[in-house]
Amino acid sequence: MTPVYFDGHATTPCDPRVVAAMLPYFTERFGNASSAQHPFGWAAREAVEHARGEVAALIGARPRDIVFTSGATESNNLAISGAARVLRERGRHVVTVATEHTAVLDVCAALEADGCEITRLGVDAGGLVDPGAVEAALRADTVLVSVMAANNEIGVLQPVAAIGALARARGIAFHCDAAQAAGKVPVDVEAIEADLLSLSAHKFYGPKGVGALYVRRRGPVADLPPLHHGGGHERGMRSGTLNVPGIVGCGAAAAIAYAEMAGDAATLGALRDRLCTGLQARIPGVHVNGAREPRLPHNLNVRIDGVDGRQLLMGLSDLSLSSGAACCTAAAEPSHVLRAIGLSDDAARASLRFGLIRATSADDVDRAVALVAGVVETIRR
Ligand SMILES: *Cc1c(COP(=O)(O)O)cnc(C)c1O
Repeated sequence: MTPVYFDGHATTPCDPRVVAAMLPYFTERFGNASSAQHPFGWAAREAVEHARGEVAALIGARPRDIVFTSGATESNNLAISGAARVLRERGRHVVTVATEHTAVLDVCAALEADGCEITRLGVDAGGLVDPGAVEAALRADTVLVSVMAANNEIGVLQPVAAIGALARARGIAFHCDAAQAAGKVPVDVEAIEADLLSLSAHKFYGPKGVGALYVRRRGPVADLPPLHHGGGHERGMRSGTLNVPGIVGCGAAAAIAYAEMAGDAATLGALRDRLCTGLQARIPGVHVNGAREPRLPHNLNVRIDGVDGRQLLMGLSDLSLSSGAACCTAAAEPSHVLRAIGLSDDAARASLRFGLIRATSADDVDRAVALVAGVVETIRR
């Protein structure tokens, strides 16, 4: 059997239209976007600014508030550690959520080692944080709130508009990791009152190694101190020669995702529901992890009663999926997200995360259902 890809939350394939847009910027249009003296530089600069507009449009931002980075990990680091440093005089308390991506949680842990105080809020059984709990956690010395738009394991959409409003009313910076949401569901920096927002091209059919950070110029952190020093590119926040082909790809992928979002969501939502219904019809003891709504249309995360997680994944190697985030599976630790919604270690290990992609077909879904059903029967026997 040819392997079927169901790991769309780890990464997505680069759209051929995106690759086509990028190609000239490796060869004939290879200029350095900072070379202001000649046409090679101008062509590169023009392409970067065009891409900046495309990324801004995807999230309802102004182009000049977009900083290109190497991806959401870097964006999260720049945003959180930068905001903590800029606002240090005002306070050293940061509020986040236990189910955030490690690229948020680990930056917070580093800040904590450096003397910041971190509040990590829990979530309900559906994986959602209560805005009332966020409000109760805010203090006079709170300088930053960081809450993701969509979870990378269980796909649930956090109430970021309500949380952003709470922060904005108090002059507290609000950072949102939108790596899973951007390009999949509507994300609007004005609607959620974000000051900082991270995204990553390879999560929406763009190239790996490029992403962006939205930095609201009129916000409490209009200027972030850079993570590394150099030529002062990207408003001084991100020095280093711009990755022009990658940025062009990020912009092209953003434009396509924006134009095709509603159609993709409807198609993938129907396939995801077919997958869920199929698994539950064929296998007794299949439960959905996380609230069914609001959730990313292409996400399904299920746990299966009475099976050993390792045996399950071993039997399903043709399906290219995982029981948790790609970055955590190497550690073989049960998912911190699934534990936060109340699962035991065994139940977390006996969970499967499906991330559908544009290329997923009904046939792929039906094969997945048959394969999982077969493996579960074998294990249970
Ligand atoms: C993938 C992901 C990241 C990391 O993005 P990279 O561009 O791969 O560094 C951060 N946060 C979330 C929620 C993600 O899904």
